Amino acid sequence: MPLLADVAVPVPLSQAFTYEVPAALAAEVRPGARVLCEFHRRKLLGVVLSVSERSTAIDPSRIKPLTALVDARPALPAELLSFLQELAAYYFAPIGEVLRLALPAIEREQVRALKAQGELDGVLDLGRAKQVGGRKVAFARATDAIEEPGTLRGQAAALLALLRASGEQPVARLEERFGNARSALKKLAERGLVALDEREPPRDPFFRLAEARDVPPELNAAQADAAARIDAALAALAVTAGEGEPHAGAPHEPRPAGPSAFLLFGVTGSGKTEVYLRAIKSCLERGRGALVMVPEIALTPQLVARFRARFGDDLAVLHSGLSDADRHAMWSSLHGGKVRVAIGARSALFAPVPDLGLILVDEEHDGSFKQEEGVRYHARDMALLRAHRAGAVCVLGSATPSIESVALVRRGKLAELRLPDRAHREASLPEVTLVDLRRFGAGPSGDPLISLPLHRALERTLAAKEQAILFLNRRGFAPSVVCGSCGTLTTCDACSVALTYHRGRRRDAPAGSIAAGASAAPPPPAGAPAAGSLEERPQGGRLRCHYCDYAGPLPERCAACGSRTLLLEGLGTERLEVTIAASFPEARVARLDRDVAGKDRSQAILARMREGKIDILVGTQMVTKGHDLPNVTLVGVVNADAALGLPDFRAAERGFQLLVQVAGRAGRRDRPGRVLIQTRNPEHPAIAFAAAHNVPGFLEREIRDREEVGYPPATRLALLRIDAVDEGVGRGAAAKLAAHARTCPEGLARRVEVLGPSAAPIARLRGRYRFRVLLRARERGPLRGTLAALAGLMRDGLDRNARVIIDVDPVAML
Ligand code: ADP
Ligand code: ZN
Ligand code: ZN
Repeated sequence: MPLLADVAVPVPLSQAFTYEVPAALAAEVRPGARVLCEFHRRKLLGVVLSVSERSTAIDPSRIKPLTALVDARPALPAELLSFLQELAAYYFAPIGEVLRLALPAIEREQVRALKAQGELDGVLDLGRAKQVGGRKVAFARATDAIEEPGTLRGQAAALLALLRASGEQPVARLEERFGNARSALKKLAERGLVALDEREPPRDPFFRLAEARDVPPELNAAQADAAARIDAALAALAVTAGEGEPHAGAPHEPRPAGPSAFLLFGVTGSGKTEVYLRAIKSCLERGRGALVMVPEIALTPQLVARFRARFGDDLAVLHSGLSDADRHAMWSSLHGGKVRVAIGARSALFAPVPDLGLILVDEEHDGSFKQEEGVRYHARDMALLRAHRAGAVCVLGSATPSIESVALVRRGKLAELRLPDRAHREASLPEVTLVDLRRFGAGPSGDPLISLPLHRALERTLAAKEQAILFLNRRGFAPSVVCGSCGTLTTCDACSVALTYHRGRRRDAPAGSIAAGASAAPPPPAGAPAAGSLEERPQGGRLRCHYCDYAGPLPERCAACGSRTLLLEGLGTERLEVTIAASFPEARVARLDRDVAGKDRSQAILARMREGKIDILVGTQMVTKGHDLPNVTLVGVVNADAALGLPDFRAAERGFQLLVQVAGRAGRRDRPGRVLIQTRNPEHPAIAFAAAHNVPGFLEREIRDREEVGYPPATRLALLRIDAVDEGVGRGAAAKLAAHARTCPEGLARRVEVLGPSAAPIARLRGRYRFRVLLRARERGPLRGTLAALAGLMRDGLDRNARVIIDVDPVAML
């Protein structure tokens, strides 16, 4: 029988293809290894899924041999490979696309070797695989060996003396000083006096500054209990992994009796991170590796520093800002087993952590764990799956757990660990006051969104030399532009959304000043119309679409009636900054949102906040995440209602999480904190429960509400997203899909409910009309059955100009 390999290739088809393994490669071709194979007369880079000696129904003459092997050691370890296959099946995603999420770049040396074999002649598509390497840096250091006295002269003697005095040096730097450095070093190396070593050092910003080791604090009772239960779970895994088989982590091990997946529910500042650090320590002590996932926005040098302070620099930090070379260096240090702890955002889910024993997902409720393009996976859900299959412990942590995770606790799938109090004994939860905007008018600033109570609270904070954060969930100066004559809203040409007016940096403001303070901002002109309502036509600035890349000037006239009176409406962070700076001329005001801040810039702003160089920080979500700012005693939520009205069944949950997280920024140390929430809707449960710090109460009620309306976690959803440039084409495809879903067996038996077709809430985006069909079921099985039944129709039964995306367990509903 021939030796056959099933190979996944990077084409948008879900199945794998069968190739013959030539005798020369038989010993080396293993699952997880990349191979070159011919596919429709092209050479493609594929990944071996399985190898076996078997007969096949396919005509043997039609089975082609594999062309070449790329990876001597499989790029994807067995544990990761089988997890990826399961992920692809779960999301109905093409296996080739899924594998690409986890595959490392190809080293240039590998490419050179293949070229030398002539394998890269002719057509080649490396499957968009990136190439890295060839930029290794050579280092030299003196060994412990001692030379015979008097045997070294000239540059060799000088070099050795330098290395002994200064320690390790890059060879390139030595060459700058010694013309003959290379040959001298070679001689020294031959005599055992110098060791040469090549590597790709991490040039990552997260490792730029040295980090001193810390002393672990003594845990409080709740932390100690949580750490002990996680430790017990890790101990149980070590036992089931079996004697003499420490590397097992095999998918089919029997699970231990105790829980191995946890929800760590701890209020903000309760010391969850300390529990993570202990869990990692006990995992490492048991000889297994650990993976930490955090929201992209929380992956800061400050956070990474806490891990480096505990574990040193043997960490792989995976983030979107890495160069290909750095990413590959991180990847190979994990893959090679040199580093056993990885920290990263969503995509760290695919890190090749050796002997995976622990996955931690911090801020598990965060929406950024869901990938919204390409393979639409949810990294938190998949963390649970990967841990389960790898025989690892999983800990989801949050101050505001997702409704999904709470439901898993209720169904006994997650064990709950609670940290009910803040870790610093003196720190208590802040006092929250609701400001009913229907009762309180504008304060001295004249802007109705800066009420008198908020104004007074800011004054008191400034007088006490403390700091304040003002949170507003709208970027830009004014969220919309309307016609003063006919009321028409200015919308994007490509999207059915309002354009936002951005004033941008003013010429009269000092360049680069983000914390200019009001001394630099012009005072409001006398009798200025109230910001937040309608305002006169401004000079300069741009209109931007927050959904596509459109940016353009403010039009001269209303597109509908031709009137010249276009008015700015509403309050964005840009305008809030200006208004606050004008109202508090003595305060240093800064803004933090996506417009002022790339990753480095936002770190700089937060650093100035920590150093006390900013009095009032205005910003979007970016101000809400995990920053430990001890002197912040006032947090103002400028408009709590903004997030609650969206047509999305998770709107209340998200609004609630945001309020609790932003309130958690106040009073983290000895000074008591205060939170002011401005709303026109004080009795809305998301607001009322947040004001009362009653997270369990909100969760309880929200779960009941979901049950009543039949949304997750009470049911399961799959969303078919259909879009097309032509409205009719999109609508037609959506109608066909819905009809087919209703008449497939699961639909007929009413095990799956088909909602739609309907236009999406954002009916047009980037020039494409959007429609959707929502599938809903009590169980996962029938939903999968329906999606499978639609596969054929999606492949060749629809207008080719319509695009259909399957979104299993959708998060974004707009
Ligand atoms: P969380 O991740 O739950 O928001 P952190 O882990 O950031 O909380 O802890 C909040 C603060 O409390 C940090 O400054 C941390 O160093 C401190 N902390 C945590 N645990 C302890 C402890 N057991 N004793 C003293 N301080 C602690
Ligand atoms: Zn008009
Ligand atoms: Zn647009």
